[in-house]
Amino acid sequence: MSQQRRILIAGNWKMNGSLKANSELIDGLKKAELGASSPEVLVCVPTAYLAQANDLLKSTKIELGAQDVSAHQAGAYTGEVSSTMLSDFACQYVIVGHSERRAYHHESNELVAQKALQSLRANIFPIVCVGETLEQREAGKTSDVVVSQLRAVMDVLDDGALARIVVAYEPVWAIGTGKTATPDMAQEVHAVLRATLAERSEFAAARVRILYGGSMKPENAKDLLSMPDIDGGLIGGASLKASDFLAIVAAA
Ligand code: PGA
Repeated sequence: MSQQRRILIAGNWKMNGSLKANSELIDGLKKAELGASSPEVLVCVPTAYLAQANDLLKSTKIELGAQDVSAHQAGAYTGEVSSTMLSDFACQYVIVGHSERRAYHHESNELVAQKALQSLRANIFPIVCVGETLEQREAGKTSDVVVSQLRAVMDVLDDGALARIVVAYEPVWAIGTGKTATPDMAQEVHAVLRATLAERSEFAAARVRILYGGSMKPENAKDLLSMPDIDGGLIGGASLKASDFLAIVAAA
C-alpha cells in the first residue's frame, strides 16, 4: 500500500450468478459506506449481466468491470465482445489474461497484450493478470514467467498508456485453492513487477496499481495489503458473499 496509489478492491465473480443472485449480492454491497478515503471498489461481472449490474450500481460508488474483452474492434468474430461494447455499459475496467483464460482458452501473452490495447482505446482500464504455476515456482521460474507476461503488454503500449493499466499478480496455485502467498512472497513478486515497469517509465511504475489475487479473504487481506507494493486485491470466491467482500474493503 502506498500513499500515492489508491487501493483498488476488485471482485471477480467469474461464471457465477443469476438475475436474482446478482441483485441480492449488489443489495448487500450497497451497505458499504464509501467515502473519499475509502478504497476504490469494483465488481467484474459476467458479460451477460453487465446491463443488469450497470443499472443496479448506478446510484452507488461501486464501479463496474468485465472479465474479458476481444482483441478486435468489430466484425466477423462470433461470440466476441469489443471494448466499445463494454463501454456502452459503463465498464471502467476489464480483466485481461486471467490464468483461467490462459489455461482453458490458450490465450498467449501477445493476445493478452492486444486485449489490453483494445481496452485502453475505449478508455477502459485493463487489469492485466500475471502469475506462475506451482511447477514454475518450484523450478525457480516465477520472476521469468511474470516478467515475460508483463513485458508482452509493455511492448504494445506507449508510456502514457502503460501508466493507465492495473496489474494483478495471481499465483495460479493460490487461485481458488485456499492457499495464499504469504505477504512476503507476494511482495517479492510485486517488487519485481514494479521494477520491470520502472525500466520503461518511472512515472508508470509509481502510478500503476499492482493487485494481489489468490484466495484473498477477510482473514488475510490486512497483512497482504500492508505490503508496500500491494495496492489492492482481485478477489474471486470471497467476492460472492457481500459480507466477506465488504470485510476485505474494510481491511484495506
Ligand atoms: P480466488 O480467485 O480469490 O477465488 O482465489 C481469484 C481470481 O481468480 O481472480
